[in-house]
Amino acid sequence: MFLPTTDREMRALGWDAPDVILVSGDTYTDNSYNGTALIGHWLMDRGIRAAIIAQPSMEGPEDIARLGQPKLFWSVSAGCVDSMVANYTPAKKFRKEDDFTPGGVNDRRPDRACIAYTNLIKKHAKGKPIFLAGIEASLRRTAHYDFWSDSVRRSILLDSKADGIIYGMAELATLEVAACIRDGRDWRGTRGVCYMSSEMPEGCVEFPSYEDCASDRRAMVRLFNMFRDSCDPVTGRDAVQMHGNRYLVQRRPQRPLRTEELDSLYGSDFENAVHPYYAAQGHVRCMDTVRNSVTTHRGCYGECAFCAIAAHQGRTVVSRSEDSIVAEVERMASRKGFNGIVQDVGGPTANMYGIDCGVKAAKGACRDRRCLGSRPCPKLMIDHSRQIALLERISEVEGVRKVFVNSGIRYDMILADRKHGEEYLRRIVEDHVSGQMKVAPEHTSDSVLRYMGKPGTRELKDFKRMFDRLSAECGKDQYLTYYFMAAHPGCTDGDMRQLSDFCSRELRMRPEQVQVFTPTPSTESTMMYCTGLDREGGKVFVERSVQGRQRQKGMVTGDAQGHKRHRGRRMRTLLPLGQRGDGRQEGVLLLLEGEGRQHRDHAVGLPGRRAGRGALRRSGDGLPQVEEDVMGGAGVLPGIRLRPGLHRRVPPRLHQEVQEPHQVRHGGALLPHGLRAEAAGRWHAPARGHRERLHVVDGQGHHPQAGVLQHHVQGRRDLLRA
Ligand code: SF4
Repeated sequence: MFLPTTDREMRALGWDAPDVILVSGDTYTDNSYNGTALIGHWLMDRGIRAAIIAQPSMEGPEDIARLGQPKLFWSVSAGCVDSMVANYTPAKKFRKEDDFTPGGVNDRRPDRACIAYTNLIKKHAKGKPIFLAGIEASLRRTAHYDFWSDSVRRSILLDSKADGIIYGMAELATLEVAACIRDGRDWRGTRGVCYMSSEMPEGCVEFPSYEDCASDRRAMVRLFNMFRDSCDPVTGRDAVQMHGNRYLVQRRPQRPLRTEELDSLYGSDFENAVHPYYAAQGHVRCMDTVRNSVTTHRGCYGECAFCAIAAHQGRTVVSRSEDSIVAEVERMASRKGFNGIVQDVGGPTANMYGIDCGVKAAKGACRDRRCLGSRPCPKLMIDHSRQIALLERISEVEGVRKVFVNSGIRYDMILADRKHGEEYLRRIVEDHVSGQMKVAPEHTSDSVLRYMGKPGTRELKDFKRMFDRLSAECGKDQYLTYYFMAAHPGCTDGDMRQLSDFCSRELRMRPEQVQVFTPTPSTESTMMYCTGLDREGGKVFVERSVQGRQRQKGMVTGDAQGHKRHRGRRMRTLLPLGQRGDGRQEGVLLLLEGEGRQHRDHAVGLPGRRAGRGALRRSGDGLPQVEEDVMGGAGVLPGIRLRPGLHRRVPPRLHQEVQEPHQVRHGGALLPHGLRAEAAGRWHAPARGHRERLHVVDGQGHHPQAGVLQHHVQGRRDLLRA
């Protein structure tokens, strides 16, 4: 059944009010791939009345107050991904499209949705406790590095002023909190919640304080290591983190759901459709991929350093029973309009179904090593026979013509399974892929792969040989497609060249699926990006400049020259234009970036250029680009020209990049009228290895807007904060 989302539906059920109202940044699709629907069904099946308000309008009370007040509490989620990841590309360019919004236009989910929705509730429907949940709240529950503001931020609990956070997979904690509030008991002892307190509860581990993390990168490394340990449901302990004179209290994690609980959860009566209220607003694209898919398990012990799944879902894999999965496929096959194709049978990693480590279940995950990493742990009993049997059973369900496995697989696990690995791959190659199979080696440089926690190139080559051989034996013309990543911490231009060579030499292809690393909150890679240090405190090279990150991608995809066609005109990146004829870096690049969605154009000026001679640019793919033959406008700095009027529309963030490590004059008086350099970005010498000291001064030797910018910025990366 659909959970009610309107007053009319609620009355039809005979409710005067819901017990819990779930608010989400994604639209309401009633299936098990939508965390909000999943929690709603979980509560309903246990006697708690849950209703959903999806993507409420921020303009007024019409949406958020349409169901009145819940009897127990509000539960607020940004959606199935962090709202900043959903709204912005790795180049911080606004995403126009959204698969989780009716009509596909990304115009419903506010930035920092948990904070925005909490404010909305407080403004228009105040009264009951508000809990944050979902991946955004979960991974921003302590002090964390935020890529989009390039700063270490406080716990999202402080910024939102919600009452608590329910972190990780939230079924058990949400149920317990609901029971506590209903029975008038204190919910703050519940495992899996965070709250603020003026006192430190007994027996807590103390994380480095927010203030220490914001000022000391080694404290961020310590925080990451302690945070990771605290996520283990067996060994994790209660923890606190000071923010000013108050404590963020993080209760130890909930245990993962057991197989029978997962079966019950996924066996709930989902409609597997978009709720009619939202379906009327337009087509929801995400349903195309999940409508006929089935989840087999939760959790991932792969622990790739850049991935948030292990931190959010946990490192313990819990699998559903075969009977439960087959029953779900039978329901799917009996549904009207089913085309006979099961699009995916999988989970975070498809071939982890039915496999985990007994040591971990009893004693908790090892702190000093990864279960997979560059080589699978021998204690992990890798055996694909259960998955082979499962795929066979699903294929035999009446009405099913084809079963695909589209979730990612770990090829190192296939190679490590001497008994059933090859048989599993043969079945996949024969019956469960459609012409191409996607794998994610992410890189081919051994040092980068170590930072990523991924297997080496030997495994990739062995796997490719096995895949090609099995495809040939099956008489199938199939190939592998590869996902790679640029600009991961530890990755240099040299590593990208090596990747490019490897692809041409060994894989005989030029990859197109190359994503630029996005530092999402609370992952290991983000900690490295933020601090320039690894988990042991060793130095790590990090490419941070926008053009450097894009350049790394271009070195593999073939756009390394910085030249591309854009709207029929010849465009050039900043980098060549910033160079003098003799090859030395020249000039100041002024990059203004607006916060508002409608004003995301960038502008740049180059000193020494006359008005109307190539002094302006727009963003192309997030790369700073100079558009030729566009007239310049109002003077901003001597010799720098911006498009007329643009400066009036660009509020509050100012990023400046300097391409020569020399003294730069910069003063508020020279800024466009009304523009303040409040949330300043970073100064650095981004291009081609400049790493020298940089001084930022004005005519009198200080910045006239006191405290906005630091006077001396040392090294290649320093945050400028008042
Ligand atoms: S023993 Fe091996 S598989 Fe088990 S938790 Fe430790 S590293 Fe992971």
